[in-house]
Amino acid sequence: MNVLEVRNLRFQYPRSKKPALNGVNLSVRRGEMVGIIGPSGSGKSTLVLTFNGVIPHSIRGDFSGEVLVRNPSTGEELRTLETPVSKLSTVVGLVLQNPESQLFNMTVEDEVAFALENLGLPREEIEERVSWALRVVGLEGKREEFPPNLSGGEKQRLGIASVLGMKTTIIVMDETTSQVDPGGKKEVENVILRLRKEGVTVIIVEHDYRFLFRNADRIVVLKDGRVFLEGTPREVARRV
Ligand code: ADP
Ligand code: ADP
Repeated sequence: MNVLEVRNLRFQYPRSKKPALNGVNLSVRRGEMVGIIGPSGSGKSTLVLTFNGVIPHSIRGDFSGEVLVRNPSTGEELRTLETPVSKLSTVVGLVLQNPESQLFNMTVEDEVAFALENLGLPREEIEERVSWALRVVGLEGKREEFPPNLSGGEKQRLGIASVLGMKTTIIVMDETTSQVDPGGKKEVENVILRLRKEGVTVIIVEHDYRFLFRNADRIVVLKDGRVFLEGTPREVARRV
């Protein structure tokens, strides 16, 4: 089942002369790990920001086309371009480059519980999700730690755990490893592989393709705001 469908998507920033996205079509299946690559300025960040509605609701511009996210359990469909960002936070989770900007709470476990408390979930459900998310990212031993004391890789894994706890349909990572040291990068990559084992649908934007070519189910190459190539890593590697 497709959990994400992008149809003929165009987006142009205000005062910009050319569209950042110029007719993008893309489908992502449940449980797939998809890597999005392409040169700087090809539209990668713009594209993933349409998945959680930040574009066009917070960052405005001219747009047309459609982005559909489908909940695989209920079959419910949401059109992200027409849905408030607040409603999309439980559907699409975005892990950003800089983990510090996402960490606000007293302890590691509070950090993961915070958004779940805001959702008004029952105490036991929150406890269960916090334990699961921290286990998946390998931070269960650091529950009581103060986030600023974590290493770069641990902070990024905590950022992932916070999004994971939300049990969104899709997790998007935009350059999640670009600001951590090589050790931290390896830690985050191992977490990504564990996410896949858990059946999480992951869409990854990365400058460094090596990990994606080795591990992604599918690679999508953007160029000038369009899908230039897509296929398995093997197929794409043969054509670039
Ligand atoms: P990346 O290649 O990692 O996406 P960029 O250097 O393209 O990074 O963009 C960095 C930031 O600058 C982003 O927040 C992006 O939205 C913003 N930005 C990029 N191009 C422009 C532009 N032409 N006008 C205004 N902001 C821009
Ligand atoms: P990528 O993530 O692949 O580097 P972006 O999505 O950041 O690409 O950028 C796509 C195009 O949109 C680029 O031409 C970039 O300069 C432009 N752009 C990005 N952010 C902004 C912005 N905030 N305002 C104006 N133009 C932008």
